[in-house]
Amino acid sequence: MEIVLYPDPVLRLKAKRIEDPFEPHWIEMGREMLALMYATSGVGLAAPQVGISHCLFVMNPTGDAKNRESEMILVNPVITKKTGKEWGQEGCLSFPGIYSDVMRGIEIIVEAVRIRFDDDGEPKAEEIAFAAQDFMARVIQHELDHLSGILFIDRFTPADKIRVKQSLEELERRHRETVG
Ligand code: ZN
Repeated sequence: MEIVLYPDPVLRLKAKRIEDPFEPHWIEMGREMLALMYATSGVGLAAPQVGISHCLFVMNPTGDAKNRESEMILVNPVITKKTGKEWGQEGCLSFPGIYSDVMRGIEIIVEAVRIRFDDDGEPKAEEIAFAAQDFMARVIQHELDHLSGILFIDRFTPADKIRVKQSLEELERRHRETVG
């Protein structure tokens, strides 16, 4: 499993809903994605970012692998309510070195199937609804965008789009070289 970089076309697809979130395949994928997220110092990682266009993402807003309470694997997530708006800085594992302010809702309600591991490492999947605020809400909105093929650069101000233009062109050049 590897992180897919901009402008790989998989990042622009609308991810498919997962019919059976309880299937071991998705549980294993969530586990691997969490490991990859921690290894790359991320706080969130969506399935399209590892080349799999399905509705699953992992996150831990603390970025700390030991903080298991903040760790989440979410399948088929939807935001059912969004309140407030604020600017805040974001990065993305598919855009190395690019950071910018993005406007996001401050408080959200999320519904999803959550896969979690108990102390013995046994997976459990449960339907949940929960509220998230501030940075955690920001991470969730960023990852949910990935599932719709929306990238954070789409939400930059015109000035920031100009500021990062060269870095994007460099990623595009590298991508052309990789695909030949
Ligand atoms: Zn991202």
